Amino acid sequence: MSEIFKYDTEVASKVEVKKQQAKYFNLVREDDPILKQVLPEFDFKNPPVNPEEFAESLAETCRLHHGIGLSANQCGFPYRVFVMGADNQYVAYFNPKITGQSEEQVHMVEGCLSFPFLGLRITRPQEIMVEYQNYLGEIKHAKFNGISARCFQHELDHMNGIVYTSHAKPMALQSGMSKRNKIMRKLKLK
Ligand SMILES: [Zn+2]
Repeated sequence: MSEIFKYDTEVASKVEVKKQQAKYFNLVREDDPILKQVLPEFDFKNPPVNPEEFAESLAETCRLHHGIGLSANQCGFPYRVFVMGADNQYVAYFNPKITGQSEEQVHMVEGCLSFPFLGLRITRPQEIMVEYQNYLGEIKHAKFNGISARCFQHELDHMNGIVYTSHAKPMALQSGMSKRNKIMRKLKLK
């Protein structure tokens, strides 16, 4: 199942988020309405928060949970930004956009820090071209494939208030939920 936990180091090698005095955020619950909210553009001319500090804290929170991607609204903040990466190397993507995608689609099991233990098989384009702003507000372009393309698309959906359960086919959702319930019962979380 777990291609999702292997990470393409192409992205992780571009360290843009430095460690300073990052603090951790709490994750919101999976039924929090902020997960369904379309997040407004992050305004670098009049930022609602210091973008670098915010990105660092988001990255720290993602690292703490061993995630490869985390969006601001998953922590309760209505800012159009997510981080993606692994270990101590995360990149922040402000105002991300997909500017092109491959015709070729791939199936992959996705996870989400907002839905613990729920792995869902979802089909999405294999390769994407993207544009985003880094924490300084500079416009950047990149091309992703494999797990990084997958993660970017999943996180971009969060920016638009879409969670991955809405992409899963009914059968995949049912099977994912039943596996999840089994795990939660075993761990006595339910
Ligand atoms: Zn997610």
